[in-house]
Amino acid sequence: MISEHPIIVANWKMNTTLADAIIIASSVRKALEEMHHVEVILCPEFVWLYPVKEKLSKFPLSNLKIGAQNISQFDNGSYTGEISAQMIKNLVQFVILGHSERISNFDEDENTTNKKIKLALDHDIYPIVCVGERTKSETSVTFVVNKLKRILKTISHEEYQNILIAYEPIWAIGTDKEAESDYVDEVAKKIKEELSDDLKVLYGGSVDSENASNYLIHRHIDGLLVGRASLKAREFVEICSLANGGCDDIG
Ligand code: PEP
Repeated sequence: MISEHPIIVANWKMNTTLADAIIIASSVRKALEEMHHVEVILCPEFVWLYPVKEKLSKFPLSNLKIGAQNISQFDNGSYTGEISAQMIKNLVQFVILGHSERISNFDEDENTTNKKIKLALDHDIYPIVCVGERTKSETSVTFVVNKLKRILKTISHEEYQNILIAYEPIWAIGTDKEAESDYVDEVAKKIKEELSDDLKVLYGGSVDSENASNYLIHRHIDGLLVGRASLKAREFVEICSLANGGCDDIG
């Protein structure tokens, strides 16, 4: 089951060495011993999934989970270099899908993301589905909601409780130009109204410990997807701690 607590996802992308991955994961695990009102999902590179899982499973915590950053759109077969959902289903509980870097660097489109969501669900992996607009001028709640509807087009409504949405305006990723939190809350609210209240909606785009609370205080924002700031253990732990702190709801 997806947690009712704020959810903080760390997307390490292709940035950590094995030593980095183990150090960050261990620091987060240690800090989480004192945090019981936040759910954290660490998404290491594929090759570090097993060692990170091994490390964390020595002293498991129920609110610390592991996710992958991608899966193949195919279930098995002659697809050199691909990694399927069934290969990693015993290593992860979550998978990030449709990230803008998959779209811009690897030509993935809404259909590809849709196929991957179905495969993840078939293998009992919770998809973290990214959606967002490319430029600030394209920014509109309707644009984002319609895009998400297309991505989820063949997914049954019963499955929505097993899916996390990460609203990530592409212009805010890796830029230090985070989106206005009121606007993000409006997008999250609309997604829930138009698709389902069962969907949890996270925000991602230049989140750090300075701005995290701006989002977490909003009623419709259920957590954060963190890129760069998740590579610094202390910074990431601070974000988790802010989420754990249960900011008053002004949404
Ligand atoms: C991301 O990669 O999805 C992301 C939000 O990155 P950053 O936090 O670095 O903007």
